[in-house]
Amino acid sequence: MKQDLLDLTIEEMKSFAAALGEKPYRGKQVFQWIYRGAAGFEEMTDLPKAFRARLAEEAFIGLPEVLEEQVDPADGTRKFLFGYPDAAVESVFMKYSYGNSLCVSSQVGCKMGCAFCASALGGFQRDLTAGEMMGQVLAAQRASGQEINHIVIMGMGEPFDNYENVSRFLRLLHEPAGKNMSWRHITVSTSGIIPVMKRFGEDFPQVSLAVSLHRIDDEDRSRLMPVNRSYPVGDLLEAAREYTEKTGRRITFEYALIRGENDRPEDIEGLTRALRGMLCHVNLIPLNKVEETGLEGTDRRRAGQIADQLAKAGVPATVRRELGRSIDGACGQLRLRRGREPR
Ligand code: SAH
Repeated sequence: MKQDLLDLTIEEMKSFAAALGEKPYRGKQVFQWIYRGAAGFEEMTDLPKAFRARLAEEAFIGLPEVLEEQVDPADGTRKFLFGYPDAAVESVFMKYSYGNSLCVSSQVGCKMGCAFCASALGGFQRDLTAGEMMGQVLAAQRASGQEINHIVIMGMGEPFDNYENVSRFLRLLHEPAGKNMSWRHITVSTSGIIPVMKRFGEDFPQVSLAVSLHRIDDEDRSRLMPVNRSYPVGDLLEAAREYTEKTGRRITFEYALIRGENDRPEDIEGLTRALRGMLCHVNLIPLNKVEETGLEGTDRRRAGQIADQLAKAGVPATVRRELGRSIDGACGQLRLRRGREPR
């Protein structure tokens, strides 16, 4: 099988060049070409022709194909449908005052089965490799003509259900000779797989962690998020507290506001009690519409009141800016729209 070069660290790329009978620095050159945006070996003009031919025989640059690109004219958000030989995933490019951010998918489909989210509706197809995640970043830069300087792993999939590949992707993003992204510009969001959260805190103490909370009673949370049956909310909050103590980093809780489900005054009082005193921030996300779920979002005015109520009680909270709504690119709206026939 050919090697996807997007899956390799710079050291591995040097060994790969050496295995093809070249000096290791040739591998470094290939690495730099790729991260400067080269999509094919023919563009790598300072490499010997024979080496380029060998590379083409043994390797490829696994950039996904842009199957669709939708732009939200209101805010410049772009949703990409990216195709790999056997699968397709969505990624969302967003503009913020502090720079450009890409919401990356970590799996094709999702196993978690959250009641409000579109990603689980089509079932689970497979994990993405680190190279395939990096491919989303490089392909989005190429298609938009803009540099991406923040990454959120909040697209389709549960990153902590694919931790080996996700952690390789994080290391690749940080590689100085490549994307050179600061750890602090990366956020990983989990539905709450506790043992992996602990590992992540040790492996990547500087990468930001977000946890999808949504409810604070076991029965309620289990109804919305089946993962709560394996990792109940009391243990989750305990693990979150431990994470903040060990890393000294603030943890983000995502809380999708669902009308009549978790947005009543007593729900918010409970949330306040559960989080008070923790080094955290609550990101309120009025639920985005997913037709099949029958659930409705809280209106933004009420969401603002909830943020104030939390803040007054000493729990910092903001309402997430809504981007890309007109293109179904908002949180929870990414899904498998169509499969792909193997090429
Ligand atoms: N599996 C990870 C990554 C997905 S992140 C996780 O669960 O955290 C996407 C965020 O959007 C999560 O907080 C998720 O709970 C939230 N979400 C899912 N469906 C949504 C919807 N319809 N409206 C708003 N947020 C939603």
